[in-house]
Amino acid sequence: MTTEATTGHAEAFAALADDLPTGCYVDGEWRASSDGSLLAVADPSTGETLTRVANGTVADAALAVDAAAEALPGWSTTAPRSRGEILRRAFEFMTGRTEELARLIVLENGKTLADARGEVIYAAEFFRWYAEEAVRNNGEIATAPSGSNRILVLRQPIGVAALVTPWNFPAAMLTRKVGPALAAGCTVVCKPASETPLTALAIAQVLEEAGVPGGVVNVVPSNRSSKFVGTLLADRRVRKLSFTGSTEVGTLLLRSAADNIVSCSMELGGNAPFLVFDDAGLDAAVAGAMIAKMRNGGEACTSANRFYVQQGIAEEFSARLAAEMAGLEMGPGLHDGVQLGPLVNSSSRDKVDELVSGALDGGARALVGGRVPDGPGWFYPATVLTGVEPSAEILGTEIFGPVAPIVTFTTEAEAIEMANDTEFGLVSYLYTGDLAKGLRVSEAIECGMVGLNRGLVSDPAAPFGGAKHSGIGREGGHEGMLEYLEAKYIACTW
Ligand code: NAP
Repeated sequence: MTTEATTGHAEAFAALADDLPTGCYVDGEWRASSDGSLLAVADPSTGETLTRVANGTVADAALAVDAAAEALPGWSTTAPRSRGEILRRAFEFMTGRTEELARLIVLENGKTLADARGEVIYAAEFFRWYAEEAVRNNGEIATAPSGSNRILVLRQPIGVAALVTPWNFPAAMLTRKVGPALAAGCTVVCKPASETPLTALAIAQVLEEAGVPGGVVNVVPSNRSSKFVGTLLADRRVRKLSFTGSTEVGTLLLRSAADNIVSCSMELGGNAPFLVFDDAGLDAAVAGAMIAKMRNGGEACTSANRFYVQQGIAEEFSARLAAEMAGLEMGPGLHDGVQLGPLVNSSSRDKVDELVSGALDGGARALVGGRVPDGPGWFYPATVLTGVEPSAEILGTEIFGPVAPIVTFTTEAEAIEMANDTEFGLVSYLYTGDLAKGLRVSEAIECGMVGLNRGLVSDPAAPFGGAKHSGIGREGGHEGMLEYLEAKYIACTW
């Protein structure tokens, strides 16, 4: 691991800082928060403060809703082609700033530069995809079964949307909501996670430059999250909540949203199983495991959380995965050659450490990793555990770190039973050389997405989302825009 106390990150941030907004973006203006308070943003590689941004209050939340409500009539009646062209420009401006945005993501989130570049490109693609979808808001027309009238269905923008996003993909989780909302004709108030507000503010700047009119997109950082989001949900002009974050917070917000019958799209936690059958191509399975586990350093809702490997290849798969994990260079994300950055904060690191210690105490063995390194920052090494008890806490909890616990199975039925033994249902991965078995198992697993012989499922053109406690609704694809549209049925005689 690269251990120098001087990471060079402070200098890298200073080089970006002049062009970075740090205020609240409300009604097309950059402002201080109404009480002048500030929120510190830290570098997870050192734990040191990079800068401070405006810390929005409930008064700022109310002002942002005022702006979004005022902008709604104009934006919802702007020609879909014009809305699409603005989103297309946002795609181009964002990809033009890939390097700068990627470096910013590394600095406030901790992930590696390669992961951050991948995120910026993925995030910008939501603007391109929804630029194209903006002109495809199709309705329906049918003759009623009785023959007495026609059934016309229009899809109209639902209204002002509150968008609440997490820190793990600070760009992509925002554009995945803003893109379809704007394409549909909605206006938005965004509250980014307190760990990573800078990326969200930089994206607001991109949208401003692309020509989004004032008030259509409002972005307000705030670490008074409960009161801030509570203010949004208590305002009857807010008709939509799109939340990405933990199941715990999502459950609270669903309860609050019930008071005003606010439509909710919820992208919540995961606990992805990764199944490897005896007939899988081992090279492909190990390569897929590395992507499914280590993209974003394991801090992804789609991260493979539990590895179930069939007995015949379990030993070889475990050894090869451990060798790959052992070869990863850990260090500050902007350093050359670094493949694993720090976790986002100390509590995330402590949680991972506790889960691993619990598994080791329960009889598991660490083939690699398993111990917090010395030195500054919130680092945790790539870790592979074998001999994990099926009842271990680490298998029932979203690890959100670079740890792969491995359990063996014998039959297909047993694998399916273990995969489904969780309240989560976001994504599952499975590797097999038998396509019929792959499809059969894909259908039997209770989740919203399956990677069949693939370690990556995310795609702006595909419906992303979960079953069970992993969420409600879909983002991306054609479905993503429907979340911001309300069907209106007109019974019509002519
Ligand atoms: P989190 O703690 O639930 O926070 C998510 C957002 O909610 C942040 O903006 C946070 O603001 C805000 N928040 C926190 N407590 C709140 C409250 N009481 N009322 C209103 N808002 C509140 O989640 P996180 O730690 O940022 O993100 C990690 C989680 O996100 C994981 O569980 C991961 O699986 C999930 N995730 C899911 C998907 C998906 O598509 N399914 C994608 C990415 C991540 P503050 O930062 O100010 O607290």
